[in-house]
Order: sequence, then structure tokens, then C-alpha cells
Amino acid sequence: MEKNFVYSTQLESLGAYDVVVVGGGPAGVCAAVAAARGGAKVALVEKTAMLGGMATSGLVGPFMTCYNREGEYPVVGGLFREIVERLIRANGALCPDEMAGKTRYTSYIGKYHSNTTPIDSALLQVVLDEMVLESGVEVFFYTQFVDCKTENSSIQQIIVATPGGLSVIEGKYFIDCSSNADLAFKAGVPTWLGDEESGVPQAATLFFELTNVDDEKYLQRGGHKAYRTPEKGRYKVNDKHVMNVNPADVRSMTRGHIEGRKFAIESFVDMKATMPGFENASLTQIASVLGIREGRHIQGKYMLTVDDVCNSTYFEDAVVTFGYGMDVHSRDASSRGGFSKGSADWYTIPFRCLVPLNCDNLLVAGKTISAQSQAAGSFRVMPACMALGQAAGTAMAMATKENCKPGDVSIKDLQATLVKNGAIIKDSRVDPLNRSAYTLTT
Ligand SMILES: Cc1cc2nc3c(=O)[nH]c(=O)nc-3n(C[C@H](O)[C@H](O)[C@H](O)COP(=O)(O)OP(=O)(O)OC[C@H]3O[C@@H](n4cnc5c(N)ncnc54)[C@H](O)[C@@H]3O)c2cc1C
Repeated sequence: MEKNFVYSTQLESLGAYDVVVVGGGPAGVCAAVAAARGGAKVALVEKTAMLGGMATSGLVGPFMTCYNREGEYPVVGGLFREIVERLIRANGALCPDEMAGKTRYTSYIGKYHSNTTPIDSALLQVVLDEMVLESGVEVFFYTQFVDCKTENSSIQQIIVATPGGLSVIEGKYFIDCSSNADLAFKAGVPTWLGDEESGVPQAATLFFELTNVDDEKYLQRGGHKAYRTPEKGRYKVNDKHVMNVNPADVRSMTRGHIEGRKFAIESFVDMKATMPGFENASLTQIASVLGIREGRHIQGKYMLTVDDVCNSTYFEDAVVTFGYGMDVHSRDASSRGGFSKGSADWYTIPFRCLVPLNCDNLLVAGKTISAQSQAAGSFRVMPACMALGQAAGTAMAMATKENCKPGDVSIKDLQATLVKNGAIIKDSRVDPLNRSAYTLTT
């Protein structure tokens, strides 16, 4: 029988901030940096000891396309571009402008895989450390958000588990970049898991890296997906599916991770035996964090739909442009998954998707923003998550200055600041859209 316990104690405050960001993945780093550069006093809370989320602790890469669907011009700029340029200078990335599809860097996948950015996950950690420290963000590593205290529909403090025990962090505003809407959920924002009808999330996968692969011999995609990193002979592998993992359930995560590790070894053995170029490969790392493609989604002021992604709906409050297909992996063992639907040549995401219901001083950024599960299959990849983070952080810096609810900032000023800082916000009323190629790919 289930037992419940009530626990009450005095907690020490680690500090008070204008903006507290929960989660230091692609979205959280960009949210924190944008808010700090906008003048806010920012804390960034991260449960591992590295920034980058899936791109570092999850070993995921490359950064997916940052171009329009046809691969003609970039649709993501801003902090994403700055991270890529810094990483190139550190010899940790290759330039997406020069990245053709159907190569070993894109795992010989043609559709939507041109203009990706091969990355080195270790060097990315260092680049992101530098960026947050330069911008004046206070980072709390080994610090997991566990709960929050709310009053009058506003979060007052968050409760975090640190190496020293439970503490609180006080904030005027909060941004949830936890990738499972952990803070939004605890603050009373309506959420759902996975597909909005079935409640089943997409499959998870545990990445691993191989070295000593013969680049010249690996010419075609075999049964496994391997992506070359900037380093000769080093590959990231995204292979088998772990089904039905709920990222908020510790038993489910434990089972999923163990299964993922077993699958990684099976894939490695199979690749060595069957894939040209992998005969002498060495397994150097298995990711320390399970790759969760989908967890909770939040209910926000607007819910992005499949139709919006397919038809490039015009939004007056657009803050992000993207052009990747709806990459929805299977939810049961019967199919492998892939592009369930194409996207328009490019589409935009409105600010209202980042503004949750029922909580006045919170924004949400990353893959959990308010959208249909299938639509999220497009923007869940890292360039879009970074652009969403930048939009949330910029809005919070404005809210801090204006002392208003983040959902009430001036959209015109927000868009102008984002564009001034390199973001790309396209307008389907004036920007050319390749409508001729609108047939949906399957
Ligand atoms: C198997 C797989 C393959 C993928 N392939 C690609 C690809 O090839 N290219 C691409 O661009 N994208 C890919 N993606 C998508 C992409 O990696 C993620 O969707 C993206 O990283 C989401 O960014 P995020 O910042 O929202 O979340 P995450 O990257 O998940 O970062 C969330 C961060 O928050 C921290 N955190 C979580 N909860 C808490 C808490 N309670 N307290 C404190 N910290 C917390 C985590 O430790 C993490 O650092 C893939 C994803 C998966 C799972």
C-alpha cells in the first residue's frame, strides 16, 4: 500500500534574482544569456554538471538544420549562430552553411538533413560555460529543481536539491527550460504527457559515440544511424528505440536507461559486424542521460497546430522561424518512426506558445511549449529550442525593466530586440515562401 509523508523544515535561500531559469540545455542557456545580456540578474539551475542538455550529457548531435526546408537560406540566427561560430573557432563544430545532406555527417539521410551542424559534445560544454559566465549569469550545477511556492498565480521561490541539501532560490520571474515542464507542472500550469490523445510519448534513445571508424568506407546508411562529428573517425550513434518512458517517473527512467544501455551495446556489436567502415570501431562513451524525445507539453495562450506548421500560418506575435519536418518517432514497437509530415518551407512560432496558462510570472521555452505533439516533432530539435530560449530570455529582461507580466511585454519591442540581436523572424505576408513545393512529404 502506498504511504504518504509530510515533511516540513526551514530552508536557506541561495539568493534572490530577477530571472531564474530551470534547466541548462540549448533552450535554458539561450534564455539565461539573453536575459542577462538584457540587463537582468539571472540564476541558471542545472541538475547535471554541464550545460548543453541533450547536446552534451545526452551526446546528441548534429544540431539539426537551421535552414528553410529547401535548404536555401538560414531561418535561425541569433544565439544559435553565435554558439556555432564560437564552437567552430574552438574546433568543435563544422559550419552548417557548407553541410550538404546525404553525407556521413548527416547519416546519409537526405530529407531535412542538409545544413546541420556536426558538433563535439565536450568542447560545447566549455563554450557554453564561457558564454554564461561572460554574460554574468550565476550558474548552479548539481542543483535539481524539485518544487515551488506560489502565491496569487505567481511563483515566489523554487525549492532545489543541492549537494548541501534542500535550499530555495527566490525570483521575480522564472523560465522553465527543464524539457519536461517540471516547474510549470508544479506551479499549476495544465500539462499533458506525449500525444494529446493517447498520452503516449515518442520513443527514447540512448546515444553513444564510436571512434576509429573508417570514414572512407562508411559510404551508405546501413541499418543504423551514425553521424560523423568534426573529428575524423568519431561518430555519434542514434539507434534503437526505448518505448514508453515517462521522464517524471523514476522507475520508468531507470528501466528506460538500463534498456537503452543494453541496446547501445547490441547496436555497437551489430555495427561492427555488418557496417562497412565500422569493423575496427571502439565504443568510447554511452551517454550519461537518456534521450527523451517527448515528455510533458504545456497548455499556453496559443497551441501551435500541425496545420500551422504545414501552412505557415501568419502570427502577429511570431518570435521564432523554423523549417524542419515533423520528425515523430514511434510510440509503440511496431514502427521505427521518422517524418510524419513535412513542414511548410518555413513557419513561425508565436510568443503566446511560451506563455503558460495559470501562472503570471513564468515563461516556458524548449520542446515543451504549447503545441500539438506532432507539431512539436518539428521544433523539438536544438536550433529551434535555442531560438525559443532566446525569445523567452529577451522577453524576461524586458519584463524586468518594465515591471510587467512577461505575457504583457510589447511584442513589437520584443521582435525588434530579437532581430537586433540576430534572430530571424520571417513574415509570410512579405517574405517569399516556396509555395510550389508545398506537397507534404511522408
Ligand atoms: C534521441 C534523440 C535524438 C535527437 N536528435 C537530434 C538531432 O540530431 N539534432 C537536434 O538538433 N536535436 C535532436 N534531438 C532533440 C533535442 O536534442 C532536444 O529536443 C533538445 O535538446 C531540447 O532542448 P531543451 O533545452 O528543451 O532540453 P534538454 O536538451 O533536454 O535540456 C534540459 C536541461 O534541463 C536540465 N534539467 C531537467 N530537469 C531539471 C530539473 N528538475 N532541475 C534542474 N535541471 C533540470 C537537464 O539536465 C538538461 O540539461 C534529439 C533528441 C533525442 C532525445
